[in-house]
This record gives sequence, structure tokens and C-alpha cells, in this order.
Amino acid sequence: MGVEIDFLGASGTVTGSKYLVCGGGKKVLVDCGLFQGSREWREHNWEPFPIDLGEIDAVVITHAHIDHTGLLPRYFELGLRCPIFASSATVDLAGVLLPDSARLQEEEAEFRSEKGRSRHELPKPLYTEEQANGVLKLFRTVPVGQDKEIIPGVALRLERMGHILGACSVSLELGGKRLLFSGDIGRYTVPILKDPVPRELHDLLVIESTYGDRLHEDSDVLPKLEEIINETFTRSGAVVIPSFAVGRAQLLLYYLRELKEQKRIPDIPVIIDSPMAQSATEIYRKHPKDYDDEALGIASGGRSPFDLSKLYFTRNRNESKKLNSIDEPMIIISASGMLSGGRILHHLFHRVSSPQNCILFVGFQPPGGRGDWMLKGSKTMRLFHQEVDVRARVESISGLSAHGDRDELLKWCRSCEGTPERVMVTHGEPDSAKAFAGSLKKELNWNAKPATYRERLTLE
Ligand SMILES: [Zn+2]
Repeated sequence: MGVEIDFLGASGTVTGSKYLVCGGGKKVLVDCGLFQGSREWREHNWEPFPIDLGEIDAVVITHAHIDHTGLLPRYFELGLRCPIFASSATVDLAGVLLPDSARLQEEEAEFRSEKGRSRHELPKPLYTEEQANGVLKLFRTVPVGQDKEIIPGVALRLERMGHILGACSVSLELGGKRLLFSGDIGRYTVPILKDPVPRELHDLLVIESTYGDRLHEDSDVLPKLEEIINETFTRSGAVVIPSFAVGRAQLLLYYLRELKEQKRIPDIPVIIDSPMAQSATEIYRKHPKDYDDEALGIASGGRSPFDLSKLYFTRNRNESKKLNSIDEPMIIISASGMLSGGRILHHLFHRVSSPQNCILFVGFQPPGGRGDWMLKGSKTMRLFHQEVDVRARVESISGLSAHGDRDELLKWCRSCEGTPERVMVTHGEPDSAKAFAGSLKKELNWNAKPATYRERLTLE
């Protein structure tokens, strides 16, 4: 008996999470993420899978983010037909995220063909919405916190990790070995979701390290949000917040509800201008089992933690455009969070040149991107082929990350039972994975090392 693990993604980089586990005559794929970011990594999305996809017996998904699920539609096209197991909130979120990812792939292919920039003669999308809808039919819900034999000889248990709704760690027992995949590890003491649940550690731990070499700035979110909104209100301006649609937008709604209920900010309209954020908020409302005590308390009082006065969702592009002509205090939350596209660009175009307004960043801005330039004090920016002046106040609130920092990752490790025989550190840039493996050795005396792309680990 023995088990082999192939590290097919999130090894040497953050994205593309994918681990093939073979043992006891069974083949299980843990996560099936899309490579994002640099072109070099994205090219790997087009590579064939190392074995015939029809031979895989089961897929298990830790959470719905595209860097953990986004290659499923392509593998469906290439012959993947086995059941895909995940928590029920993950299944719901994947139902929104995968078709959206397909639409982006299709738009990108169209863009490449117009520009003649493709390396393919006829630019093809990586996958289509039809393939995304096809693979969604393979999803099966697994209850969280219970052992379950998903296929003969393979036992699975999911436990909540507080990263986004539905996010879980995955333990697998097969071929006489017990493995644990942390998935993405969330934060402690952040509202809405339960804290990461401790697990038992045995033969192997595969652990993420996104912020494995850093600590989050200890910023108090509520007072800063309060100050920015009130200050912008005195100038009769709008606060425009570029935000991730899943997780971040709901956290913002939660905080804005608190500020309004405590009468710390005026009762101005809050507009969610992102169909994806609206769908994700509906899914967050549907899954109180993931909530922490505080959010549960609010929900059991018959309210939703995400309902606040004067909250509006735009229903279509026209309603989104109409916002441009409204010149009164309000808060607009729109995607994409990194200003890579989407409706947020229109809001910036119409608001960024007026000193009345405030552009508030609540998430990571990639170096060299528009958000990074604005935060560094750039006086102009390019939007829709025009040079526009940046005169609005530009602010950023850190501390809203959905990933635990080094100390939070270590806290979760210490909370777990037992010492893992082996630890493979993944889902981090090389420096971060290396530093975190070092911390695990030094602080816990664990046998840890960073995984490399396409490495095979054999557990005898
Ligand atoms: Zn994630």
C-alpha cells in the first residue's frame, strides 16, 4: 500500500490549486483551479492532464474561488465525468462563479481575435458557458463535519476554514494513509464566518502560504470606514469602492450595517452595482450554518446580517448607467476589485475627477495596475482610451483580507491535534512558501518543505 500525490498547481505560485492523489486503487483530484496572473503560468491551463481524465474516480473541492475550481469546465470537455464533492455553499457559489468565468474566457477570445493577438489561428476560449453548465451537473453536496465514504475505499471529511462561505479543509483517508489539505485558511476574529476549525494531523499536511511571510497591518476597519464616509458626506460626494464580489462585498455590507445601526454614518444609499455580488449575497443569506455566533445572533432575530437601510442592487446596465447622473452622497460598491474590468471602470471614469468623491480600495492592488498607481498618488489615469484627472480622495483600508497572515496560519497549526509526518507548503509565491516552511520547522519542529510544480510525493 502507499499513496502518491502529484502537485499539479499552486506549487511555486499562488493559483491553479490541483493535487492528484492516487492510493488504494483510486484516483482523487483535490481542487481543480485555474492558473491566473503571469502569462507563463496561464499557458499551463492549456496543457493536457497527465492521465486520462476519465480515470479519475472523484474530485473534491475546498472552496469556490476560480483558482480552485476554474479548470473544471475544461476538464469536463476533455472527458472528466466523475462526481465532484463539495460543501453545499461551495456548490451554490460555483454555480455562479463557473459560468461567469466561462463568459470571461469567451470575451477574452473574442478580444484576441479582434486584435489578432492570439497564438491560435482561430482564438478559442479555454471553455464556454455550456461546458461550465455541463460540469456543474457533476457536483454533489457533502455535509460539513461528518465522515463520509464518497467512493468505496475513500473517506472524506470537510471542516469549515472561514476563508469564504463554504470554504473547508479536506481530509482524505485512502490506501492506508490519512492526508489533510488545508485549502485557503481564513481569519480569526473577522465577522460573519466561523473561525478555522482545528483538524487531526497524520501522514501528510498540504498547507497554503499566501501570506506565509507577512503579517496583516493591524488596522481597525470600522473607525476608518466611518471617517471616510463621514468626510465624503460633508463634501456631498460619493464613496466608490472597487470590491471582490464574493466575500469582500458581503463583509462591507456587514460593516456598513453596523455603522448605520450605531448611527455613526448618515443613512445614505448603498448601491451594489455587480450582478455577481448580488448573487453571492443571496447565497450568503442562504447559508447561516457557516455564520459565527454574532452573525447567527442577527439572523436568529429575523434579520439578515447583510440587510441595511437604503440598500439597492442595480438590476441591469441601464440602472448602472443612471447612477452616473446622480449627484448626491452615496456609496457605490462594484467589481472588479482589482480594476481589471467590469462596471467599476465606468464609476471611476465618472467620479475620479471630482474632489468631492472618494475612491476607497479594500483589497490587494497588483503592482503596476491602475489601483496601485492611484494609491501611489498618480494625478492622471487612462480609462477608455482617455487621460482623466485623479482629483478624488484616494484611500485604502487593509485588514479585510480573506487569508490568514503568518501568525494566523501558525495559530491554526497549533490548534490542530497531532504532528504531521510530512508537510508540503503550497499556494504561495516562492518566497512566501519558503519562509512559511521555515517558520513551521522553527516554531513547531515540523518536517515542512515548499512543493514544486509537478513534483510527485510518495508516502510508503
Ligand atoms: Zn480562495
